[in-house]
Amino acid sequence: MSKPATRLSRRKLLASAAAISGGLTYGRAAADPQKSAEPEILVAFGAHPADVLNGATGTLLKHALRGDRAIGVPLTLGIGHLWKPRDGSFGRLKNDATAKLRTLPEARAFYSDYVQRAFAELKPIEYRQLDLKDSPLAVDRPNLEAVAEIIREYRPTIVITHHPTMAVLAGHPDHRDAGDLVLRAIMLAMEETFGSAGRSPHQVSRIVCYGDVSDRWKALGQADAANMLVDVETTAKAKEKALLIHGPTFGVTAETVGEGWKRSAQPGYPHLEPFVQLRPVVVDYLRTNPGRPWLGA
Ligand SMILES: [Zn+2]
Repeated sequence: MSKPATRLSRRKLLASAAAISGGLTYGRAAADPQKSAEPEILVAFGAHPADVLNGATGTLLKHALRGDRAIGVPLTLGIGHLWKPRDGSFGRLKNDATAKLRTLPEARAFYSDYVQRAFAELKPIEYRQLDLKDSPLAVDRPNLEAVAEIIREYRPTIVITHHPTMAVLAGHPDHRDAGDLVLRAIMLAMEETFGSAGRSPHQVSRIVCYGDVSDRWKALGQADAANMLVDVETTAKAKEKALLIHGPTFGVTAETVGEGWKRSAQPGYPHLEPFVQLRPVVVDYLRTNPGRPWLGA
């Protein structure tokens, strides 16, 4: 477990590195964050269902409730690292039900039930299960095509994914591979010659990565240090409910959920989700920012 940051250090982080945001949209909807003038479409990819549930469902729900479309898309079910058939356990669960799991389809159905019940608490967030193979998650042509197809189907304005340069050993290796896979697929989804001809190419406007402020504030130079914190006060309760439904498979309890909030909290903001905003493409800076000095200096 990481050491909690001091209050002073957290204040410093807030002032120097991260901005608290009402949602993942700046600019066109900023005047009235409760209403989308032009609805966003958010697709949150995660290596595993737990990554989407933990990382972004407060933010996704906030967007969905104001009229944006939000879809959670775990790339895999994570069965490869959760199911231990010899031991008769699944994740942190070991009981009569897990002991009966004999085949991969049985294990998938068992876990899929937890995930779908958790996402059902988060409506109107949509849930789409992609079912790629995990542990390892291959960054290969079939998987790139599968992710690019999802991008062309939903046509997101905002994609959420793992950071592609996060430390290899920071959590499960599928996380970094998922970031790599999704970023490559975002680029390939723009190419007319890539993938099936059935859906037209699509360009994503904004890419946001899951962030972690537990220790990272110490390394502000690190590429994957969180630089945006979304205030999810209004959706935190629904997220907690979903986390507790999914909880038994990961040993998550009301207490650990509370500890999780504390790790990313800032003074006055107890329920935040940390993200790393990748630089958006700015076309003609002076036209989109009239009156601003060169490069904001
Ligand atoms: Zn994961």
